[in-house]
Amino acid sequence: MTQGAVEKASAGKAGTTPTDTKHVYFFGGGKADGNGRMKDVLGGKGAGLAEMTNAGLPVPPGFTIQTEACREYMRGALSPEVDVEMYTALERLEKLQGQKLGTGENPLLVSVRSGAKFSMPGMMDTILNLGLNDKAVEALAKRSNNPRFAYDSYRRLIQMFGDVVLDIEKKKFEHIFDTVKARENVKYDYELQPAALKEIIAEYKKLVRKETGKDFPQGPLDQLVQARDAVFRSWSNERAKTYRRINRIDDWLGTAVNVQAMVFGNLGENSGTGVGFTRNPATGEHIFFGEYLMNAQGEDVVSGVRTPLSISELERAMPLVYEQLRSITGKMEKHYRDMQDFEFTIQDGKLYMLQTRNGKRTGLAAVRVAIDMVREGLITQEEAVFRVEPNQLYDFLVPRLVEKGEKVEVLATGLPASPGAAVGQIVFTAEDAVKFHSNGAYQAIILVRGETTPEDIAGMEVAAGILTSRGGMTSHAAVVTRGMGKCCVAGAGDCTVDEAKKELRVKGHVYKQGDWISLDGTTGRVIDGKLKTLPAQPDDPDLVKFMSWVDPARRLKVWANADVPRDARQARLFGAEGIGLCRTEHMFFAEDRIEHMRTMILADNEKDRREALKKLLPMQRDDFEGLFKTMESLPVVIRLLDPPLHEFLPQREDLLVEISHLEDTKPRSPRLKELRPLLARVQELHEVNPMLGLRGCRLGIAFPEITEMQVRAIFEAAANVKNHGGEPHLEIMVPLIGSVEEMRNQTAIIRHVAEQVFKEKGVTVDYMVGTMIELPRAALTADQIAEEAEFFSFGTNDLTQTTFGISRDDINHFLPAYMKAGIFKQDPFATLDQAGVGLLVKMATAKGRNTRPTLKVGICGEHGGDPESVKFCHKIGLNYVSCSPFRLLTARLAAAQAALEEKLTGPNLHSNA
Ligand code: ADP
Ligand code: MG
Ligand code: MG
Repeated sequence: MTQGAVEKASAGKAGTTPTDTKHVYFFGGGKADGNGRMKDVLGGKGAGLAEMTNAGLPVPPGFTIQTEACREYMRGALSPEVDVEMYTALERLEKLQGQKLGTGENPLLVSVRSGAKFSMPGMMDTILNLGLNDKAVEALAKRSNNPRFAYDSYRRLIQMFGDVVLDIEKKKFEHIFDTVKARENVKYDYELQPAALKEIIAEYKKLVRKETGKDFPQGPLDQLVQARDAVFRSWSNERAKTYRRINRIDDWLGTAVNVQAMVFGNLGENSGTGVGFTRNPATGEHIFFGEYLMNAQGEDVVSGVRTPLSISELERAMPLVYEQLRSITGKMEKHYRDMQDFEFTIQDGKLYMLQTRNGKRTGLAAVRVAIDMVREGLITQEEAVFRVEPNQLYDFLVPRLVEKGEKVEVLATGLPASPGAAVGQIVFTAEDAVKFHSNGAYQAIILVRGETTPEDIAGMEVAAGILTSRGGMTSHAAVVTRGMGKCCVAGAGDCTVDEAKKELRVKGHVYKQGDWISLDGTTGRVIDGKLKTLPAQPDDPDLVKFMSWVDPARRLKVWANADVPRDARQARLFGAEGIGLCRTEHMFFAEDRIEHMRTMILADNEKDRREALKKLLPMQRDDFEGLFKTMESLPVVIRLLDPPLHEFLPQREDLLVEISHLEDTKPRSPRLKELRPLLARVQELHEVNPMLGLRGCRLGIAFPEITEMQVRAIFEAAANVKNHGGEPHLEIMVPLIGSVEEMRNQTAIIRHVAEQVFKEKGVTVDYMVGTMIELPRAALTADQIAEEAEFFSFGTNDLTQTTFGISRDDINHFLPAYMKAGIFKQDPFATLDQAGVGLLVKMATAKGRNTRPTLKVGICGEHGGDPESVKFCHKIGLNYVSCSPFRLLTARLAAAQAALEEKLTGPNLHSNA
């Protein structure tokens, strides 16, 4: 069961007895109704606020409306108890604060904050300064003796409320704001004087009336109810949905709503607001890390509006506050036993904590933090294994730029927001990124923005890298890309990004859409042109140590797909314990071979075909020798020729064009003599549906001499290596088997050739013959096939294709629609469909082992490197997964986590397994 499915099940249960449900949880006055373990109910933020309150930390009081209320709202059945409990909690808050919401001489103001079980930074909405209206703002101005502050807070409320609740485009507010700012000739927001702010407020109110036909609501309770419902709705906005899809969070979880007394960072120079991490989220170094702004509120720090100060400045400016912050966050880290990401506000020199949560980090940082925390005695080695997401290990393998001997013109240096390198063609909007990605116009895309916003999430996902001209290490772009393991340079102030003109101007250059640049996310450099990239070395000592905890925990073996010795060496470097798939056709595509291959295919009789095959044989033999030597005594699974023959021939259309051109210009050209028979053969071989045509074992059955040649090359290579003291361990895999008869046919040839070669070479080599299970019929008759096959390797790419009847090359035409409609939760070619394709895998494994208890079973294909699919393979008791070399670390970690989870909870009886 996926995490989401578990959640959904429990969510459903909670929803059946709404009347018994406590909807609102109070926190404040030193204790809270809830606690830190109640993330399901209170959301991460609400649980954190409760926990901090219980720990006696300085947290502004408030209450949390639990996630069930959101689910009720989504079902259109918000129970009346929610309002009742909310008003009771509000009264309690007012009493505690000695204030009344939005009324009286000392009006209470609150924030209304979203917060789901899994943190979704910036995906949902928050409203600050709620409760302010035309009257309350005057009271606040008088009471604080600071009209600038009061009007600033009010204009922020209208702006946020307008955006979040009333759905008025942010741009329209910003336009008003920027116009007045320009006229007043000030650089920073806080320089605006009360008169100018009042004018902005008047304009904002006009805008609200124009856009909605109604006045900005003056009633504080009215504001509160509308804001709460808008936060519920923000759970279902497009960017939140996209985020959940990428992170596989269930759509039915819902968000909690936190209503909390405001504290003000915009009161003046003795106030401020900031965010930080207890360790460096990019590298994992145990260094206090953060940014803040004085005289600012809420999102000012992360939105990149002003470039924030480093937290070390705070140590100088306000040493006592700094010390208190360090001590509190240090305690929080010990308490949660994980790196914390926190938000704080300083109001008139007094520190308040507004949020703490386990911080998002890069893969490099995750490994480093896990190792350090084990050393510090905070967590065990087993826990450390769960502190890194399998996909994050990819960060150790991210490319670096090749600079040696290259002309490197550094255009600008921004912040090294997310490590790795990216080389690509620039685009200026998320929509363009998505467009040029899906139509294949650009090979690699770099999204260039002033700053990114949560709306850019889909574009960020398809980009190879992100460049922003504003914003800090905790800006939206930085946080999101680190989570994605994607290169990002943020806050490159020397770059001018003109989003309207689609131009990037820097250092006298003007770059337009489609121009190439290179980014180095590890150093923050922006570089002219298209540099080459190098994969990183996976010999980082932290990584090596971490993997030494991972590997002993797993039961599943992890092999790699590798066709040539170079890939095999790479695979061994990344820890492959065998080769699960060597695709021999790749060997034929090499330039010096394709000609012989074509001659073979063009031959219209067996004799000519055998002649051509003879020329190919020594080449294949060399390839296999190389593989066996590289892999030493580790198993190597070699698949016989699989693709349809026309793939090795020129395209029919190209031939037609060339022939008619020659006929017009050089009718006597000898080339025509070559081309005409080629075209004839291409036409002969043409298939309406090559995917279901003459391919796989069908080739070896129609032309046994092809199988003979390949098998001879394999055994000769193995014999040669063995004669030189090697210990090759080979397995021959017959592709696209659908019946035991096919298998019997090919096995006979293989065994016959093996005997011949062993006799000739005077040596025997152990080997196995098995098949790829990639057709439903093979899975259904696996018990019969296992009579002949000594191993199964599930070709889950083809098996997904044939089970769904969906071509992998065409799924993109409708996948977006399927995702949107919720028919597919994930691309079935990326994550194994456990209910259907997975059931076939499980069933075929059982049937096969019933016939042959020693049957070795694995999978190869994309799914072998997908964490969820790997965990499934563990659960159903496969022997190994085989994946591309770059997925090996991920697969090793996923396999270890699966084994440890099983140890902790016992085999999962409810899953398909
Ligand atoms: P997100 O989940 O996007 O971080 P938050 O609800 O944490 O959204 O709030 C957005 C911003 O508003 C943060 O900078 C937070 O510190 C600030 N904020 C939220 N509540 C308050 C409050 N009661 N007083 C002052 N600032 C607040
Ligand atoms: Mg926050
Ligand atoms: Mg296949």
